[in-house]
Amino acid sequence: MKVGVILVGTELLNGGMIDTNSIYIAEELNKYGLEMEFKIVVRDFKDEIYRAIDYCKKNVDLIIMSGGLGPTLDDITKEVIAEYVNKPLVVDAEELEELKDKFIKGGYTFTEINKKEVEKPEGSVTFKNDVGMAPAVYIDDIVAFPGVPRELYNMLPKFLAWYTKEKNLIDDEIYIKDLITYGMPESILDKEVREFFTEEGIYYEFLVKDYGILIRLQSKRSNKNKVEKIIKKIYNKIGKFIFGEDNDRLEGKVVELLRENKLSISTAESCTGGMLASRLIDVSGVSEVFYEGIVSYSNESKMKRLGVKKETLEKYGAVSEETVREMVMGLQTDVGLATTGIAGPEGGTEEKPVGLVYMGIKIKDRVYVEKRVFKGDRNKIRERTVSHTLFTLIKILNEDV
Ligand code: ATP
Repeated sequence: MKVGVILVGTELLNGGMIDTNSIYIAEELNKYGLEMEFKIVVRDFKDEIYRAIDYCKKNVDLIIMSGGLGPTLDDITKEVIAEYVNKPLVVDAEELEELKDKFIKGGYTFTEINKKEVEKPEGSVTFKNDVGMAPAVYIDDIVAFPGVPRELYNMLPKFLAWYTKEKNLIDDEIYIKDLITYGMPESILDKEVREFFTEEGIYYEFLVKDYGILIRLQSKRSNKNKVEKIIKKIYNKIGKFIFGEDNDRLEGKVVELLRENKLSISTAESCTGGMLASRLIDVSGVSEVFYEGIVSYSNESKMKRLGVKKETLEKYGAVSEETVREMVMGLQTDVGLATTGIAGPEGGTEEKPVGLVYMGIKIKDRVYVEKRVFKGDRNKIRERTVSHTLFTLIKILNEDV
């Protein structure tokens, strides 16, 4: 089964917006063993969308489209699909009522132009949009989703579950397991796990994400038990570099461990300027454990707010093991995290280069300090500091608490 993707949106071709939808679509297709053969990006022009559909129709079995389902004049995807499949655009009374209801509940005024959001080529199957207005529309092996990523995320899984059943593709269903590692480079990971993949039909690959490197194991669902045996072997060998699976994220894991161990946490951040607190606060349920986040940038603040000694700052400097130790000791909770570093691009010296970061982790009365020199631009260095601090905390909590 071949799949072609058409991304509709002038903003995707004039530098206004990066296409991320196709990455998500590819990942979801993988779960069913379906491969994206190609993707086409087109502007919001009728003839361009039409030609893209025509090309796909001649080359693939299923066309997945995103963008152009909204109420405005340039939203013409459904109109073009209707023309291609030679069906009129119709509105289902029930879907129209549901749409009006969403407007009322959201406190918006429904206008005639919004009706367009539930228009569909006659004979289409639709998929409910739980997070936005326009439903996804399917007809004749063409499915169209809104461009807004979270709306696509809401409906694509529903569509694929339905479509693969409808077309009897379920036998081919693929089993995927992601092990999320941190702290081991791809080449070493490969060396470590290669020996476990001798069985025909069980594959692995590495996907580098900003929260770690995924080891993706993939096979037919009928091989699930064999895959699980391999996973066990991988854990036995490099378990301390694995912090989670599938949708786990570092910050989620930290919050989970803190909740399990009934530990409170706070942060004192210099170079990361609140990013660490923000990543933790991204996790729902964090209020149970998160006490406060202090952005302590100047020396004066480090002394005043965290009790770092003047002599420490004078003798060792703000970016030093001694300072981060005192920063983290200045926090009142069971667990404390502190960061101080030189994110650059200026401010580096031979002794303290750009990228030098000290991360302090306090658990009750024990303090651990990590020193690293991260590569990358200012933002990357700060992001890496956050990830590394979170990962180190997970490691310590798993080992010592
Ligand atoms: P609506 O007009 O109701 O918002 P729509 O289906 O018409 O929905 P578009 O107008 O095409 O969708 O896109 C809406 C927004 O979704 C865009 O402003 C853009 O932020 C985002 N978007 C569109 N296509 C993509 C894509 N391929 N990848 C990531 N984001 C996208």
